[in-house]
Formats: sequence, structure tokens, C-alpha cells
Amino acid sequence: MEVYLDNSATTRVFPEVAELMTKIMCEDYGNPSSLHMKGVQAENYLRYAKETLAKILKVNEKEILFTSCGTEADNLALIGCAMANQRQGKHLITTQIEHPAVLQTMNYLESQGFCITYLPVDAFGRIRLEDLEAALRPDTILVSIMHTNNEVGSLQPIAEAGALIKRFNPAILFHVDAVQGFGKAVIHPKKMNIDLLAASGHKIHGPKGVGFLYVNSKVKINPILFGGGQQMGMRSGTENVAGIAGMARAAELLYQHFEEERRNLYHCKRKFIEGVRQIERVQVNGLLPQDPYGEQSAPHVVSVSFPGVRSEVLLHTLEESGIYVSAGSACSAHKPQPSATLKAIGAGQEILDSTIRFSFSVYTTEEEIDYTLQVLYDKIPMLRRFTRR
Ligand code: PLP
Repeated sequence: MEVYLDNSATTRVFPEVAELMTKIMCEDYGNPSSLHMKGVQAENYLRYAKETLAKILKVNEKEILFTSCGTEADNLALIGCAMANQRQGKHLITTQIEHPAVLQTMNYLESQGFCITYLPVDAFGRIRLEDLEAALRPDTILVSIMHTNNEVGSLQPIAEAGALIKRFNPAILFHVDAVQGFGKAVIHPKKMNIDLLAASGHKIHGPKGVGFLYVNSKVKINPILFGGGQQMGMRSGTENVAGIAGMARAAELLYQHFEEERRNLYHCKRKFIEGVRQIERVQVNGLLPQDPYGEQSAPHVVSVSFPGVRSEVLLHTLEESGIYVSAGSACSAHKPQPSATLKAIGAGQEILDSTIRFSFSVYTTEEEIDYTLQVLYDKIPMLRRFTRR
């Protein structure tokens, strides 16, 4: 049996998405900048994608910019806004548990003379609004807070943070990295005071190598790519028409059956947490005490530590049984540093060394959960005996 439980790393493309993309690549392959019929056809796909994504977010279609991935969307939001607004101030705020797409970009901005505040999180991976309030300054120009953490699935108080920021100073821009949240949560930027929002195709059963950035029309932002002037000069480069249309189709499909799919994900999550807790000395990370099954965190992520078993060893043991998971977060897998998120929630060395992320999708079944639990019941005691020797 093959069980793919690494959906926070990437997801399987919906067949309808692959079908649409094949048609675009093989038949409707024009360049949207071309003036002839093939170009117009390609442009129509871009319009469809903008309309679809804008409808889901309840924003204007002119406020959607296509990028090559979530990382580029985050880079464009942070660098583009920092550069365009630096006369108003050079202070930015983010959290300690952001994805490297934000953290590394903030490091870069720091090297360019900007001052960054990194908000800590509590033991459940959530910022405290008091910390955000205390960090806001007269020279703050932007706050960037992720919607859903990719390692432990914690959800941030985005609407409350948005309201707080705008109460302090309506000119401060609010960027949200929603790469893990888009498709799993209802997000309406205008209601939540979000000015910029990044998302990615491959986390929502769309293709890799495509993402988008919502940018409120009032935001002052500079481009970070220069060239042919596509997308109103904000993001030069020929649009990835097939990828963009595929991403929009995937989002459309996900939000069509949204409530049902979310219920299923939470059901799988609860079943898995109940089952995994049967194993001695396991720790499920990032759950609030009043929320033992993680219904107040992301529906698709469960981070579990198995003290006494090294995460890489368990990852490969599970792989031998056809189960694919990740150790901490896939995006940091090739880096030897311990997970910033786990450290920020106060995890000690034993937890850092033994944490596995299981992440579900609409394709995850109860049978797969049962099988995974059975393999864990069989292997964990054996691996622990082996480690002790
Ligand atoms: N932000 C978060 C929270 C993520 O989880 C990821 C990818 O894992 C990214 C940004 C980067 O997205 P992409 O892989 O599309 O560059």
C-alpha cells in the first residue's frame, strides 16, 4: 500500500487540472502578449484564473498578480513594499516561525538597512497580540504574519492582528503568507485588513512552479523583476499560462466542496491523533490544551514527536512500508539546522530530533490512517529498543 502523508510539502495534481493544462500546453499554447487569436485565447485563460481566484478571496481581479511560486510571491510582497515605502520608515515586523521564503527575505532586508522585529510564539505556535501591539512603532511600514504554520499547523489570529495594526496606523501594510492556509480556510482579505496575501499552486492540488500574490489596489509596491512589462509592469516575464489556469482550476475545485473536504480532513486528523496517542511517550505538537484533536489548528497537519526514535530513521522505516512523511518541514530538509518553529515553541533536543510531520489531503482515506497507525504500532517499540542499545 502506498500512503502519501506529505501534503504540506506538495500535493497530487487533480486529474481535471492536468487535463486542462495538457490542453493549454498542446493546443492553446499562445503567448498572452501576442496580438493574434492564439494570444487572445491564452489571455482568456489568465482572465479566467484572475476571476476565479478573485471570487474566492472576494477581491478585485485586478488585484491578483501571478508569480512563479509562493516564495516569489512572498519576496515580491516584502521587498517590493519595503523599497516602495522606505521613506515612511524602515521597520518591519514578522514572526519567528515563518517559512524561509519570509525569514530569509527579512534577513536580506536587514542587510539592506531595514530593522526587523521577530515576534515570539507561545508553546502552541501562536503569536500574542500584546507582543504585536508592543512591537508596532511610528516607523513600522509592514507586518508579515503567516496564516497557517507549515510545520505544526498552528493558525494565527489574522483578523485580530489586521484590526490591531490598522487601529495603530492604517498606513502600515499587512502581508499574510497563506501558502498553507489557502484552500484549507476561508480567507477574505478585505474583511481581515490583509493588504497582501501569498499562495502557491502545488499545495492545493495544482501544479508546481506557480503562485499568486493578492495586492490591494491601494498598496504602494515596486516590482522585483524587470523586463517585458507583463502584468502591468509589476511582474515581467511571460506568464505560465498552463500553470496559472491549473492553479485556478484546482482552487475552484477545492472551494466547491470546501465544507465537506474540511470535515473529512478534521476527521482524519482526529482519528490519527487518537490512534497515535496509544503509543507510549508520544507528543503531538502545537495543540492547545482545550483542543486535544487540533480542531483549532490547520485541518491537514499533525506534528508528532516520538522521543527515543530519530526522525530520519522513522521517516525511512515508514517509507519501507510505503508511507511518505517528512521530518519537520520538507523545505528545510536539506539544511542541518533544527526547525525554527519547533525551537520557537520551546521544544527541547529530544523533541527536535524525533519529530515527524504527517500531512493530509482530500485524497487521504481512513484506511490509510489505520494502516499508518498499525505500522507505527509495529515499528516504534522496535526502533526504541534499537536506539537504546
Ligand atoms: N510559505 C509557506 C508557509 C510554505 O509552506 C511554503 C512551501 O512549503 C512556501 C511559503 C513556499 O512556497 P513555494 O514552494 O510555492 O515556493
